[in-house]
Amino acid sequence: MKKIILTGDRPTGRLHIGHYVGSLKNRVQMQNAGDFDEMYVMIADAQALGDNHDNIQKIRDNIVEVAMDYMSCGLDPNKITLFIQSEVPELTELTFYYMNLVTLSRLTRNPTVKEEIKLRNFETSLPVGFVTYPISQAADITAFGANVVPVGDDQLPMIEQTREIVRSFNNLYGETLVEPTAVLPKNEVCRRLPGTDGNAKMSKSLGNCIYLADDEKTVNQKVMSMYTDPNHIKVSDPGKVEGNVVFTYLDAFSTEEQIKKYAPEYNNLQEIKDHYTRGGLGDVKVKCLLAAILNEELAPIRERRAYLEEHKNEVYDALFNGSDKARKTAQKTLEKVKKAMGINYREILKK
Ligand code: ATP
Ligand code: MG
Repeated sequence: MKKIILTGDRPTGRLHIGHYVGSLKNRVQMQNAGDFDEMYVMIADAQALGDNHDNIQKIRDNIVEVAMDYMSCGLDPNKITLFIQSEVPELTELTFYYMNLVTLSRLTRNPTVKEEIKLRNFETSLPVGFVTYPISQAADITAFGANVVPVGDDQLPMIEQTREIVRSFNNLYGETLVEPTAVLPKNEVCRRLPGTDGNAKMSKSLGNCIYLADDEKTVNQKVMSMYTDPNHIKVSDPGKVEGNVVFTYLDAFSTEEQIKKYAPEYNNLQEIKDHYTRGGLGDVKVKCLLAAILNEELAPIRERRAYLEEHKNEVYDALFNGSDKARKTAQKTLEKVKKAMGINYREILKK
């Protein structure tokens, strides 16, 4: 079976280091390993309108920001298909047909959607467009026949919803759609990177992010104000590593070589954690280490971004050429879907 990958992000803000370790890094590695047949990366602007329909400017601006983030992390539009969701209207049509396969109670039982409804104060006035977004994700995935979807763990319920839709569709109308599998990062802390404030998830909507485009000074400042162990007041106090975001980030980002390079008195991260737990290691020292490691990872990304900022036409070309290509594939799937359902009237009724 062909290996077809699809992933995407909502253009609701610039991408942050949670996106990077949760999904983006995986995509770049897969792209560079060449271990796939087709790879689609989608900027989910239509989905983002579900909670931003009154702020189109924000979505429009961020389409370009997210595309620059992708390309500066190493996604190469010559190797993958980079596209804008609303440029492929077939996705909307597929969503409409899939809606009949899902109940409202099933949608509102989705734990990620539940959390997001709460966060947006949608409990008493839930926009229909917002609550149906997992169905549109099923359309995005199946339109390209994707069987591999690299995501963070908040997306697992969405992939499950897609699999249910695929099974219902295939049962009703015959084997047509492909069931996808979610691929999570191997390193468990990367599956849901916490925010700099200690919140369980770094998220554009929560304002607790370190952005890929942040300059060195901003990264340093954000790291210095990060949540640690509130009871670790004096350097000599024993400290807690669990739930201490600085250590979580070190788990997510640091390599043994970097530990040796930036903290030569230790052999590995475990030794630093042991020292912190015993007492005698101050927060500032650990934070300086983290800032150095993050800045090392982000430096080449910033450099490529600076180039793209000056060559935005390359970004627009990538987006629109990719969208044309994606549309052709989605058109073929839509034809197959309509044929399976028996609503390809022009073919049937002409006979
Ligand atoms: P929004 O708040 O607008 O929903 P977001 O920060 O949650 O934005 P999305 O565009 O919804 O970002 O998510 C895109 C991808 O990034 C998904 O695969 C998601 O699982 C992953 N992701 C987002 N935040 C994190 C995080 N903190 N840690 C790991 N992966 C993440
Ligand atoms: Mg999200």
